[in-house]
Amino acid sequence: MLNSTFEVENQRIPFNVPAIDEDEVAAIVHTLESKWLTTGPKTREFETQFARYLDVPYAVAVNSCTAALHLSLVAYGIGPGDEVITTPYTFAATGEVILHVGARPIFVDILPDGFNIDPEKIQVAITNRTKAIIPVHFAGEPCRMDQILDLAKRHNLVVIEDAAHALGAAYHNKPIGTLSHATAFSFYATKNLTTGEGGMVTTADHRIAEKIRSLSLHGLSHDAWKRYSKAGNWYYEICEPGFKYNMTDLAAALGQVQLAKFHRLQSKRQKLAQLYMKAFAGTQEILLPPHPQDSRHAWHLFVIRLQSSELPAERNRLIDALARMDIGTSVHFIPLHLHPYYRKRFGHQWGDFPQAEKTYISALSLPLYPDLEPTQVERVARVVRTWLSNHQNRNLKNKADYVQKTG
Ligand SMILES: *Cc1c(COP(=O)(O)O)cnc(C)c1O
Repeated sequence: MLNSTFEVENQRIPFNVPAIDEDEVAAIVHTLESKWLTTGPKTREFETQFARYLDVPYAVAVNSCTAALHLSLVAYGIGPGDEVITTPYTFAATGEVILHVGARPIFVDILPDGFNIDPEKIQVAITNRTKAIIPVHFAGEPCRMDQILDLAKRHNLVVIEDAAHALGAAYHNKPIGTLSHATAFSFYATKNLTTGEGGMVTTADHRIAEKIRSLSLHGLSHDAWKRYSKAGNWYYEICEPGFKYNMTDLAAALGQVQLAKFHRLQSKRQKLAQLYMKAFAGTQEILLPPHPQDSRHAWHLFVIRLQSSELPAERNRLIDALARMDIGTSVHFIPLHLHPYYRKRFGHQWGDFPQAEKTYISALSLPLYPDLEPTQVERVARVVRTWLSNHQNRNLKNKADYVQKTG
């Protein structure tokens, strides 16, 4: 018989596994049997539950966080000639929605000791064309929202938070989703709460919520989805050209189940993050993720940075070493300004945002998800630590050889 400890010890550890079990399967089957597949009663229920969970007046469901960000910009009337300040240390979506509305993304660098946008650099970047700020709560760590909201107030700017990583996070005891003009969440397959694909906008502004709801379904007069139900009729009006960004009831059914167990999923993430912290405490070569005392981290990602890494090659070798041990990792993010489109269109280059670049070449995201076993966290940490000490020995040896040859 095979030794089961041995088996578990050597199982592949994927980078991400969604927390899906029988409850999600049952909800999908139930929704299929209801014969109502697209936007309908389940989507409306999910919105109500989501708004109640965060204690925010309005939540509007859409089919992605990208859609949530895009519609928020449209709803606030941001367009050609406007500037929107954001971080280069983010995913494609944050930059592209600014471009889609015809505005110009103005990148400002991240904090020297962290992953999030630097409020002092925002201040310097504000011009009379600035209309909005999109902070990104990287990995689920809240940005310095007091400073950002204060700047926005003084310069009359809209704040739209990219909270793709930050469901479950809180800043000064207030949940992310309740702080600014609008907050965009992602329910993509890898995110803390998943509907496969999906997103949500939260806001306290009734007018904006209604506008986003209408824009998400072709700009039709409100509750157009009811036109196929008993309560509705065939009549609708196109109030403005909208988009096809509505959430389906199939997705909402998953969302409801995930929201009901979200607290449990989050406490597992937090425990595993603490376990990583403990396992790496005292490992000189590694910078651990910041987790400020004045906020609650959502632990979407656990990102370590190699302290001494001057070269991406070094970090990449660690990725390869982990892959050889069947451990999946990722890198978040390749800063937007380094991508060909942004280089060509805005003349960006290496050196423009040194903190983001330095973080990018040294960062490595380790597996973190509710179904990860504590023993697996320990195994990942052990492989990383072993690689680091071998690596250091290699470096010392190379140095010694060098001194011997040249000295
Ligand atoms: C995942 C992600 C998005 C986009 O979310 P979708 O739901 O896939 O559109 C936006 N911003 C950040 C920072 C993300 O990680």
